[in-house]
Amino acid sequence: MNFIFRGNELLLREEGIGFPDADDCAFMGLAADALAPVWLTPGCADHCTHVAPDAEAPAGFVFHKLRAVLADLGEHGALASRAFQVSEWVRTHRYCGVCATPMRKSEKELCFHCPACGFSAYPRVSPAMMVLIKRGEEILLARHATYATARYTALAGFVEAGENIEEAIHREVLEEVGLHVKDLRYFGSQSWPFPHSLMIAYTAEYAGGELRVQEDEIADARWLGPGDSLPDIPMVESIAGRLVRANLPPSLAARLSA
Ligand SMILES: [Zn+2]
Repeated sequence: MNFIFRGNELLLREEGIGFPDADDCAFMGLAADALAPVWLTPGCADHCTHVAPDAEAPAGFVFHKLRAVLADLGEHGALASRAFQVSEWVRTHRYCGVCATPMRKSEKELCFHCPACGFSAYPRVSPAMMVLIKRGEEILLARHATYATARYTALAGFVEAGENIEEAIHREVLEEVGLHVKDLRYFGSQSWPFPHSLMIAYTAEYAGGELRVQEDEIADARWLGPGDSLPDIPMVESIAGRLVRANLPPSLAARLSA
């Protein structure tokens, strides 16, 4: 399969889930050697690249927001996620960050080497924490200020240099909603290609503090209890969706599955 990205968009057939073949790529001016293998396995048939922001889709194709179609891609979703991160890494590592010499791609591993100074650059993975805070039968859900949707989800934020995951959780929770938490429990993780995150999800118990939102990050935060109506929550394919669903008050979980 060929994964052609334009910014955060993926090229797909207008009808159904279909990927461009070699002829479609050639029409866009993409020779075979312009495409990077998604996996460095011998004979890897999956390739990817980023095209210019003004590139046009060939006839019968359309660019879709990757975030919007990720769930529809089904079994190809993880591959598309990987392809997006590989092509973004190729796009942003043409020159050495130390001495500005054009980089050379290794044939043995996913690595760019600088032939002049020896600097190596691997695809970047940025760990981010996600935490769902529980207080008795209630859970804390927040609506992020930067998203256009009215969706309520768990708190999340990037791990900073020098922090471990737990320290990032305590810091972000205090910054974003003014609360203290305890009893952190690992829930699961998910690669999240926007642009190269690894989401690491936890639950935590409320340990004190008054709800006070950091307005530039959080538009609204509320405790959701058994008597409340369920707001719009993240899709089940995302770890945020699974984390929220796994911890809903039983009466709301029953309503969700009804
Ligand atoms: Zn260099």
